[in-house]
Amino acid sequence: MIQKDVIIIGGGAAGFFAAINIAEKNPDLKVVILERGKEGLTKVKVSGGGRCNVTHAEFIPSELIQNYPRGQKELRGPFHQFMTGDTIEWFEKRGVSLKIEEDGRMFPVSNSSQTIIDCFLSEANQHGVEVLYNHSVKAIENQGGIFQIETSQGQFLSKKALIATGSNPKIWQLLENLGHTVSAPVPSLFTFNIEDERLKNIPGVVAQDVEVNVLNSNLCSEGPLLITHWGLSAPSILKLSAFGALEFAKRDYKFQIEINFIKQSFEDSFNTLKVRKQDLAKKTVFKSTQFDLPKRLWHKLVLASSIKEETRWADLNKEQLESLSGQLTQAIFNVNGKSTFKEEFVTAGGVDLKEVNFKTFESKYIKNLYFAGEVLNIDAVTGGFNFQNAWTGAYIAAQNISK
Ligand SMILES: Cc1cc2nc3c(=O)[nH]c(=O)nc-3n(C[C@H](O)[C@H](O)[C@H](O)COP(=O)(O)OP(=O)(O)OC[C@H]3O[C@@H](n4cnc5c(N)ncnc54)[C@H](O)[C@@H]3O)c2cc1C
Repeated sequence: MIQKDVIIIGGGAAGFFAAINIAEKNPDLKVVILERGKEGLTKVKVSGGGRCNVTHAEFIPSELIQNYPRGQKELRGPFHQFMTGDTIEWFEKRGVSLKIEEDGRMFPVSNSSQTIIDCFLSEANQHGVEVLYNHSVKAIENQGGIFQIETSQGQFLSKKALIATGSNPKIWQLLENLGHTVSAPVPSLFTFNIEDERLKNIPGVVAQDVEVNVLNSNLCSEGPLLITHWGLSAPSILKLSAFGALEFAKRDYKFQIEINFIKQSFEDSFNTLKVRKQDLAKKTVFKSTQFDLPKRLWHKLVLASSIKEETRWADLNKEQLESLSGQLTQAIFNVNGKSTFKEEFVTAGGVDLKEVNFKTFESKYIKNLYFAGEVLNIDAVTGGFNFQNAWTGAYIAAQNISK
């Protein structure tokens, strides 16, 4: 049996961040990371399309928490201890500069996730953190305040343990055996599959600011909308997929959405179209795009309103004007399934938040057992918020573990 002071299970974002902070704060502690893979930080590597969206330029805790469908209330306090600004400073102090993109996402200046990995590996090495790869944890027991942790390669003992295994069902099962409750995992951050003539053959078209409502629910969102080969994506959809993750799973990813492409009321758009009928009388409707919509989307909506390519504005009847106004402001689409959003995807579900002390990230049931990252029932919309949860939890747990 191998004795350590602190065992960290999982060598991902949260695991490395915690280990480094513990070892730096208290160099006397023997800290080991047990990682099942032949290398760690694999999600960091592929994150943000290989660029690693480390955090987000949102510096007000009450605003930051709005991005977490699960964990919103619980993260308020922790963000007052360690949040985005602290993340930037942490990396900066270790030679990694971050830059802000127009939409607030923050990446290493190098534009490469390898910079983050190199930083972690070098810091872990410098502070004497031992990283044992190919050590898949199979059992966790707590006997008389000592953790006995069995991996594929041997037994480890420690007084303190941090679980940072992300969305790993086997570890959730072990935690349930220890008395914790785990909310069933469901996917979050996905795109909607839709087969519809209005979206056919126009992948890549973006409507800059739309409103999307899910019928028979109170789920709605606003923002850019991207038409893909399979359906719809971009922030307006991804936000919905995160906030509606549980609801959509219940409905087996079959539901209806209503899109307002121009964020105007039906009446207002109808009145505008009536004015256009006068002003543009001799022009064809098809060729005179309105409301700053992308041309190809306008074409689709015009045709969906039973208006022919050659129809002139002057020839539009009331039904056609109403139909076009409906397509612009109340267009219904049938969602039938989901697809992975490759830039970033996460799992909703994990250790029940009521069972964790968010001042320390320690279990309320088992003394000296800590959690950080996606193992908890916390997840966020896309934009660097999921990593921020990992950094915050890992940092705060580290401060308490190293005491
Ligand atoms: C493709 C992709 C891109 C992403 N991009 C971004 C992004 O740009 N920005 C952002 O904020 N978020 C992003 N995310 C989400 C982000 O990666 C996660 O929220 C984050 O990695 C969670 O950190 P974690 O340490 O909790 O878990 P992980 O990073 O998943 O680490 C868990 C580690 O535990 C190990 N492990 C699991 N089970 C065991 C076991 N039994 N024994 C030992 N080790 C075990 C795993 O091998 C893994 O190394 C992305 C996710 C994906 C999938």
